[in-house]
Amino acid sequence: MATSEVVPFAKTGGLADVCGSLPIELAKLGHEVSVIMPAYSSVKKAGIELTDTGVLLDIPIGSKIVEGRILRGRLPDSNVPIYFVDQPIYFERNELYREAGEDYKDNCERFVFFCRAVMESIRLLQLNVDLVHANDWQTGLIPALQKIEYESAPGYEHLASVLTIHNMAYQGQFWHWDMLLTGIDWKYFNWHQMEYYGNLNLLKTGIVFADSINTVSPRYAEEIQTEPLGCGLENVLRHRSHVLSGIINGVDYGAWNPATDNYLASTYAPENWQAGKAKCKRDLQERLSLPTDPNIPLIGLVGRLADQKGFDLVAQVMNHWVTSRDVQWAILGTGEPNYHELFTRLSAEYPDRVAAKLEFSNEWAHQIEAGADIFLMPSRYEPCGLNQLYSLKYGTVPVVHATGGLADTILDASESNLQQGLANGFSFDVYEAAALERTLDRACDTYSHHRDKWNQLVLTGMQQDWSWAESARKYVELYQTTIDRANATVCA
Ligand code: ADP
Repeated sequence: MATSEVVPFAKTGGLADVCGSLPIELAKLGHEVSVIMPAYSSVKKAGIELTDTGVLLDIPIGSKIVEGRILRGRLPDSNVPIYFVDQPIYFERNELYREAGEDYKDNCERFVFFCRAVMESIRLLQLNVDLVHANDWQTGLIPALQKIEYESAPGYEHLASVLTIHNMAYQGQFWHWDMLLTGIDWKYFNWHQMEYYGNLNLLKTGIVFADSINTVSPRYAEEIQTEPLGCGLENVLRHRSHVLSGIINGVDYGAWNPATDNYLASTYAPENWQAGKAKCKRDLQERLSLPTDPNIPLIGLVGRLADQKGFDLVAQVMNHWVTSRDVQWAILGTGEPNYHELFTRLSAEYPDRVAAKLEFSNEWAHQIEAGADIFLMPSRYEPCGLNQLYSLKYGTVPVVHATGGLADTILDASESNLQQGLANGFSFDVYEAAALERTLDRACDTYSHHRDKWNQLVLTGMQQDWSWAESARKYVELYQTTIDRANATVCA
């Protein structure tokens, strides 16, 4: 598994969670998995034991040869080996991709180096790999190298590739001269393969050359084949739709389980959730200096304060509700300055209704998930989303925009869904403030006036299993069909 992020070594988003959890689940299913990522400064500071494999790399990058070496460690609490590509000039920096609002100028060069290092490591470490699993644009060159340079090289003849897209909005686009860094012939720089309107596009490259492509939910796999969520690559994806699928990310219930959560005022499980959750709500209200009324609906929001997460709609509804509705808001997040200003102002003007923690805090995230009644996640688009899955486990009913992974995991509390015992939240289809407002109204009304229905929603969510086990089995199936198809093609 080749990736630019792995929890707990380096993380900017959900990619890191997937690459930290999935390999361990695959190993539990009996597969031999190795992970490979860059040796960032954060890896060296992580305090894990790193051994030098003795493997040295000489990688051609344009007209120079860049040296590197391979270090080895293990994923925490497992026997899964993780290899780190050590190249201090490229990777020992303060951040992963950008600093002070600007991308590193040599991002293309850094990740071309990483992709070539991955391909060479397979041989040099004698890993005997059946399938390489690439993730996002940073590893998009790997499927191309496999097809163009390595297909008939000894030890690589049967190698198949999967590319997982975690977010279409990040594509690794660079000016055309960076083609020289890849070392790949200019003939591949055309609009069917590596070029996108005059630029080199590494995500497109991966999509074109990978044997299989998947995203992190079935709905998102559909959505990216059309505008606007295809972010310009919808036609390329449609062209490859026969090898494109979606697999929902799993949750790490070791970290997110109200029955064992050390951050909470009281732990709770489906059998005793009412008493436990009431204590957590009171504790949250106290700590946020909100009135400690058990009956006021408490709406929680946790996430990046970005338009992607639907905060433009939230802003419109909140501006109206703070003066008109008796509900409380608990907000945790960091991000765009306009939302920092908005939530700072609302919490100062309406301290009885709005509490905002504009920071990154795992502790607050757990306490809001447990203490809130409703979890609001009206994302404009959402490849998978994790917070709504945590909310289900914590008995905090999600209110979501029906897009991507939110549409695949949250079933609206319609009469028929309730009757069939399927409903676990509230959702709306059209991305507009009026729709969000109506849906939040329904949720608050159900909470205040239809407790039996509410309790049913809570229990349905708490009893669902969104752990990695099932998703890992789906990845195994994907790997197997990919290997079979790739080898059938080679034999033919
Ligand atoms: P994305 O990867 O698009 O940011 P996800 O819902 O998939 O969204 O995952 C976000 C993760 O980051 C969750 O684990 C969430 O709890 C966490 N998170 C986001 N913002 C904060 C914050 N301010 N403090 C603590 N955790 C946060």
